[in-house]
Amino acid sequence: MLKQIQDALRQVDFDAVLITSPQNRRYATGFPSSAGVCMIDAKGGYLFTDFRYIEAAKKRIGKGFFVDMVRRSYADMVNAACRQDGVKTIAYEEGFMTCADYTQWEQALEAKMVPMGSLLGDLREVKRQEEIDCCIAAQRIAERALAETLPDIRAGVTEKHIAALLEFRMLDYGGEKMSFEPIVVSGKKSSMPHGVPSEKVLEPGDFVTMDFGCTVEGYCSDMTRTVAVEYATEEMEKVYQIVLRAQEAGIAAAKPGVTGAMVDKAARDIIAAEGYGACFGHSFGHGIGIDIHEQPVAAPRIRKKLEAGNIISAEPGIYIPGRFGVRIEDMLCITPDGCLDLTNAPKQLTICK
Ligand code: ZN
Ligand code: ZN
Repeated sequence: MLKQIQDALRQVDFDAVLITSPQNRRYATGFPSSAGVCMIDAKGGYLFTDFRYIEAAKKRIGKGFFVDMVRRSYADMVNAACRQDGVKTIAYEEGFMTCADYTQWEQALEAKMVPMGSLLGDLREVKRQEEIDCCIAAQRIAERALAETLPDIRAGVTEKHIAALLEFRMLDYGGEKMSFEPIVVSGKKSSMPHGVPSEKVLEPGDFVTMDFGCTVEGYCSDMTRTVAVEYATEEMEKVYQIVLRAQEAGIAAAKPGVTGAMVDKAARDIIAAEGYGACFGHSFGHGIGIDIHEQPVAAPRIRKKLEAGNIISAEPGIYIPGRFGVRIEDMLCITPDGCLDLTNAPKQLTICK
């Protein structure tokens, strides 16, 4: 991404970016590490990291980057690079850096520190094909894990058991790690959108909502399916179909030039028209990439327009407190003339016996 970042640097009034967050460091260099500092200016990129990563970093990081092991301090290394390249102002990630880190950097750096704004965020929102392919690969792994876990969903097993099976299978099939802790909630608990899997045993007539994903090359997948154990009442079936229709309406609305609010509204209107408006208390969708929640967002009041290369979730839900909840979530990639649903798992209501 070096070239893209350098191109973006030409449009702003600072000379370099100082990248200290692991997510943006990975984005910029393609190399995952828990420690290190990346700096990019018009002349090139620098990655300074410690002994634990230096060998792998030197092997993996591509042309245009100067990779070096940190001596005395990261600030010394950055100062030397700034002097060499004539960098006078350097932009930091104000959404990530703690106040304590900022104070330290500010005292140590010779260049003037300014907030980075949306430079990296704007780039990350529009995925290149290689990035989209990583999200798809992660999604295929999650789908396979789900397909093989459906036969294990039956009365008598716990939510935690199902969560553990999903997690094990995603890792076994090539996922690097979970995109987030899997959510598996059943029965009355399914009305809590981000409930935590517990020792609760699945019972006949329960909805089971599973929200999970893994990463490939650092890129996340995210999907939700809601299934019923043994049977679904008429009301459960009805609510399920409303959520599915709402999701399909949102997907149909998702294309370049449309705002996040318009996509959200397409789905929300269907849920509201059926009288469940108050039961859909979260957004329709969020961006997905190196972070599980990133830009752009499809939610009320979001005026920003979607563009080709965005990846967003499509995840409306209806949650009836004390009764049950339903959420269905796919990943969408915005294309020049619409969107591509990256999720392949069936969406008709599955009854697990
Ligand atoms: Zn999800
Ligand atoms: Zn999501």
